[in-house]
Amino acid sequence: MEINESEKLADFKKEFFKHAKKSSLYENIIKTNGKIVFGRGSDNPKFLFIGEAPGFSENQIGKPFVGRSGKMLDGWINDLGLKENFAIINVVPIIPLNKEGGIRPPTEEEINYFLPLTEKYISLLGPKLIVLLGRSAASIFDKTLSLGQVKHWKGMKNQNSSLLQNTNSVLSDTKLFFIYHPSYYLRNGGKGFEKEIAKLKEILNDKTKQEKLTQFD
Ligand code: URA
Repeated sequence: MEINESEKLADFKKEFFKHAKKSSLYENIIKTNGKIVFGRGSDNPKFLFIGEAPGFSENQIGKPFVGRSGKMLDGWINDLGLKENFAIINVVPIIPLNKEGGIRPPTEEEINYFLPLTEKYISLLGPKLIVLLGRSAASIFDKTLSLGQVKHWKGMKNQNSSLLQNTNSVLSDTKLFFIYHPSYYLRNGGKGFEKEIAKLKEILNDKTKQEKLTQFD
C-alpha cells in the first residue's frame, strides 16, 4: 500500500527529503545508489509502527519494512486485523553503514538529527496507538520502556523532544506499546513473540481499560 500523498504530507515530504540530504548519512545513499526511505501506509492511521532504519532492501526500494523483517511485520498487521488503518515509519530514514559497508544500528546522534522531523511526521499522522519496534524507536520517547509495556504519551519524557513537552498536542491521548524489533524474533525463531502479540491484541480489544482506543472503528 502506498502512503496517500494528501496535501498535508506532500509539503512535509519535501521538507523531510531536504533535511535528509543534509544528514551525515546521506553519503550512504550516494555510495549505494540507494533511496531515502519515507513512510508507507495510511496518511491518517489509527495505528503507527515505528522502526529503526532502512536495511538493504528498503534502501533499494525506498519504502520501510519491505525485506524479511517487513514480511514478519506485515504478518503481525494482518493478524491484528488492522486493514488499511496503519502506517509504518523509521526513526532514521537512511541506511546506516559501517566502514566495511555492513549495516549497523543508528547512533543516538543520528536519531536526534531526525527527531524534529520524526515528531512532526508522527503528529501529522496523529495515531491513537504507536507500536515501538525495538530500542531505537523506544529511545525517542523513553529509554526505560520494557517489553510489552503500555504507556500514555503524556507520561513520556525525553529532553530532546519538544513534542512531548506540548500537552495540547494531538497526541495527548495516544498510547505507546513497546515490542522487540521483528529482526529480534527472526533471529531467535519467534520465541516470546506469541505472548507479546497476544498482549497487543488484548490492548486493541479491551474496550473498558483503553477508553480512548475504543474510538477505533
Ligand atoms: N528494520 C527497520 O527498523 N526498518 C526497516 O525499514 C527495515 C528493517
